[in-house]
Amino acid sequence: MYTKKFNTHNCFSLKKTKIYDLEVNTIKKDIKNIHLAVCPPDGQVRLAVPIKTTDEAIKLLIADKMPWIKKQQKKYSQQERQTKREYVSGESHYFLGNRYRLNVITSDTKPRIEVKKKNYIDMYITPQMSTEKRTRLMESFYRAELKRQIPALVNYWSKTTGLTVNEVKIKKMKTKWGTCNPEQKRIWLNLELAKTPTRCLEYVLIHELMHLKEKHHNEQFEQLIKTYLPQWEQCKQELNNNPLGFAEWPTTNAQ
Ligand SMILES: [Zn+2]
Repeated sequence: MYTKKFNTHNCFSLKKTKIYDLEVNTIKKDIKNIHLAVCPPDGQVRLAVPIKTTDEAIKLLIADKMPWIKKQQKKYSQQERQTKREYVSGESHYFLGNRYRLNVITSDTKPRIEVKKKNYIDMYITPQMSTEKRTRLMESFYRAELKRQIPALVNYWSKTTGLTVNEVKIKKMKTKWGTCNPEQKRIWLNLELAKTPTRCLEYVLIHELMHLKEKHHNEQFEQLIKTYLPQWEQCKQELNNNPLGFAEWPTTNAQ
């Protein structure tokens, strides 16, 4: 199960403890429910518990959830292997939520990416172009595509919500889909969003915009998102299914 709370952020600052042979990052917070998460990219275990939770209760909970934790960690280690790309013909790559086959074409023209056919991404490279350069070529394509999409979305959602930002920038982030600096009115979006459907990009943008009104992921925050994007849970689910996303659920047995 997934909680109703969406996590684009590293939500906790953490204390490392060893429970059985598992390293668990635990924090005691002023919360009602326990939140357990296995986080990408390397399957780190994070646990947030109500302040009065005893160490014994934490141990029991971890023991109870161990099969799930191990399963998630296995999933991430497989995903990590999958994300290592060589940029050769036939490889699968994602763009705007669709899966494409890469078609690498060696030519003397300027290296570039073109998506002309339905199922293929054409990558024009110069002879012997390194994997690193191919990676950068793909990233600059993704970046350009996001830059093409973002202004209209920002414009629309600023008008709709009445919330304005000074800047929306794109960067590579390992654990967050987006961040917002409410003081500077600046939003950062993850480059990886170029691989997801536009509705996911839109959802993260709205999420970050709402942080201009409400800093925390509380009930009010959720209501705000719901107001503008009733189908937000579907988008959250899609992002959680992506290697960057992570599952989390509340348990009520150890309050
Ligand atoms: Zn957030």
